[in-house]
Amino acid sequence: MGQVTAGNRTVAERPPSGPVGLGAAEAAERLRVEGPNSVAAPVRRHLVTRVARQLVDPLVALLLAAAVVTALLGDLPDTVVIVLVVLVNTVIDVVQEVRADKAIAALDQLAAPTARVVRDGVDLVVPAVDLVRGDLVRVEAGDVVPADLLLGESSRLHLDESALTGESVPVVRDVGEEVAAGTVVTTGRGTGTVVRTGAASALGRVTALVAATRPAATPLQRRLVALGRVLGLAAVSLSALVFGVGVLGGQPVVEMAITAVSLVVAAVPESLPAVVTLALALGARRMAGARALPRRLHAVETLGSVTVIASDKTGTLTEGRMSVQQAVTPDGAGYAVSGTGYAPHGEVRRDGARVGVPDELRRLARAGLLCNDAALLPPEPDRPEWGAVGDPLEAALVAFAARCGLDPLTTRTAWPRVAEHPFDQANRRMTTVHRTCEGRYLVVCKGAPENVLTRPVVDATDDELAELTDAAHQLASAGLRVLAVATALVTELPDPADPAGLRPAGLVAVGDPLRAGAADIADRFDAAGVRLLLITGDHPATAAAIGGQLGLWRDGDPLVRGDDDDLTDVHPAARVFARTQPDQKLDIIAGLQAAGHVVAMTGDGVNDAPALRRADIGIAMGGGTEVARQASDLVLVDDNLTTVAAAIGEGRRIYDNIRRFLRYALSGGVAEVAVMLLGPLFGLPVPLLPAQILWINLLTHGLPGVALGAEPAGPGTLRRAPRSPQESVLGGGLGRAILLTGALIAAVALAAGVAAAALDRPWQSVVFVVLGLAQLGVALAVRAPRPEGRGHGNPGLLVAVLLSALLQVAGVLLPPLRELLGTAPLGPVDLFACVAVSALPGVLLRLLRRPAEAVGGGGTNGPRAGTSASPR
Ligand code: ATP
Repeated sequence: MGQVTAGNRTVAERPPSGPVGLGAAEAAERLRVEGPNSVAAPVRRHLVTRVARQLVDPLVALLLAAAVVTALLGDLPDTVVIVLVVLVNTVIDVVQEVRADKAIAALDQLAAPTARVVRDGVDLVVPAVDLVRGDLVRVEAGDVVPADLLLGESSRLHLDESALTGESVPVVRDVGEEVAAGTVVTTGRGTGTVVRTGAASALGRVTALVAATRPAATPLQRRLVALGRVLGLAAVSLSALVFGVGVLGGQPVVEMAITAVSLVVAAVPESLPAVVTLALALGARRMAGARALPRRLHAVETLGSVTVIASDKTGTLTEGRMSVQQAVTPDGAGYAVSGTGYAPHGEVRRDGARVGVPDELRRLARAGLLCNDAALLPPEPDRPEWGAVGDPLEAALVAFAARCGLDPLTTRTAWPRVAEHPFDQANRRMTTVHRTCEGRYLVVCKGAPENVLTRPVVDATDDELAELTDAAHQLASAGLRVLAVATALVTELPDPADPAGLRPAGLVAVGDPLRAGAADIADRFDAAGVRLLLITGDHPATAAAIGGQLGLWRDGDPLVRGDDDDLTDVHPAARVFARTQPDQKLDIIAGLQAAGHVVAMTGDGVNDAPALRRADIGIAMGGGTEVARQASDLVLVDDNLTTVAAAIGEGRRIYDNIRRFLRYALSGGVAEVAVMLLGPLFGLPVPLLPAQILWINLLTHGLPGVALGAEPAGPGTLRRAPRSPQESVLGGGLGRAILLTGALIAAVALAAGVAAAALDRPWQSVVFVVLGLAQLGVALAVRAPRPEGRGHGNPGLLVAVLLSALLQVAGVLLPPLRELLGTAPLGPVDLFACVAVSALPGVLLRLLRRPAEAVGGGGTNGPRAGTSASPR
């Protein structure tokens, strides 16, 4: 769209004279009075509601009931500790929820739709929510109409109104008619005045029925809720067992009931949902910082299990900055054209020597300039290079014409366009008709060689066609995009939809440099177990050449042709797809998904929206159409596919951290239950008092748990196979690792208790200190492996662990805490012994960790059939 940025607004092309639109001050005033152009008010939760939601949690309710019982019994210390636990947990959870909501709201704003509006006579791109009644809005193919508009101008404006009517056949809208907010412009362009915004618009009236909703829970969040239920049930059953054993062993009933409640609370990682939401939301924010904007939270976690990325070529793997490099005239002469970017100056060479521009080449260049909707933009103070508006391929043809000595404006004025058939991907050609000064008509058709150099479009001998087709193939094999051009001079106005009897005018071959870093991108995805596919509408030879430069294709590899092959059932090793249509992307996705792949698909056009929706992760280009952006899960702000590799790493890191948190928190719960159940068997009748259990829970689950969510990615994150989305969150050996870790912690705590009892030391306090410290040691042991020579990367975790450890020890050292927790003082030797014993589980786990292991337990998931990173 040829935009440049000015301040916080984006300024698009500036017409020399034209409509003025509203003034900025008037627009601001209307926005203040009439409100923003948004259909659903953002959901804002009041602090009281947030706190209330925490308090109705069954676990918290259980704790509050226990607090009432202890208070009635006059057991002040237990009441105080219980209330403290509720308070601290509520504060931590509410703070995390607010942080997560803020991160999500910030993302929503970044990904918000924009609109092109004329204000004070200048074309601006503004957030669509800022539109007001009376604004003059421009729409074109690929836009979602941002408000109800009354059309003042319309040029072949076709709208897909299915969002409102369910009818997907595009309708034509003309001057004087209204177009409704939420409908999609499929072709043409138009300008209209805003007549209704926000809830009053057609879209608003429909969506008002659907009350403002929060983003749906992601699959992982849903699975964790289910896991929470199972864990809750297990904890309740085991605590009931502890209660029964205690009461049968002669312990007071009320005391044992409170112990059981405390144990339930300790065994269930109640902060899990908060930790997960925050990890996802903060991950999403980090991705946005890396220029990959997740539009839905689920994208963050799904990205981690993507096994195939199907990518467009132009603009995604290449820079999308095109220039004509070679041209061939009908007599078979080949020319090399040079020049920088879209600058109109350059040289024409033949056989290495600079030459003048022969008539045949000039005619070819003129045809390319006429059958063309692009324009060049001269440099400006804030844009030092020549720019372009319109299709980059056509802009390259304008620059080529200028390099051949033609003045675009004069030429287009001398040969005015009287009819046209726009480029469409089905025919892969575009035809225009121009009136000549003698009153005849010049027909120009340009497009893919197979679609132009064919009868009846052209009237040429077999030899002529064979020669040009051969030349086109050679140019394509060099990685260039080849266009054939044909023209005819006729006396009657022809039908541009059905060109016939034209004469070949030649070939132009357009180059588009690979993006920096694209050459090894296939290797990077390979290493991460993600297969990169190149899907293009280009010629197979061009696709193969570019595929070769990207490391995706070698001689002998399969090459799929959209024109001939069945795309739902392609060779598993196929990586390059040529001459495909946008709707064939759906077939490719269906085939891959049926083979068990998790597919990410890129797209930017109107026709890509269904594929973006169908893919597990739809990736839209920031510079693409609004429709594509709205259909996608992830928007690449810089259109650069290498950014996706980073986003995949982020997705995996978040999942790893959630598993890390589970391992840490659940193994602590397992240990506490085990100590309480087995203690009596080892002569420790009541290993821990309720207040002590809750204190450990408070210190271990609270800050260290949250801090684990911020662990950096391990060095091997992008060098292992993706996780299977079917695998349970406790899969890959994590369940076993949790039991093992819990058993280790319980073993050292019980051993220390038994030894202390034998030595006649305050064994209960020893169990208390060792159980807490050993869990904190595990928090350090399950950290992500650090790459050599890099700093800690997550100082928050160290601080949280240190602080919690100090508070844990303070529980036996400070008299007021001793009173509260019912502990006995421990001397320096006792404490030293406790610390030494507590370090054992962590140290052991660290030693047992396999080098590539990121999360502990079963380590990495093996690649599934067909997903392995095929080394090339
Ligand atoms: P990519 O993979 O590079 O993003 P694409 O899949 O978008 O490409 P299309 O734009 O559909 O490919 O182009 C397919 C073919 O149609 C091109 O190889 C070219 O020959 C022809 N073509 C593209 N744009 C035009 C145009 N504006 N006028 C005429 N022909 C065109």
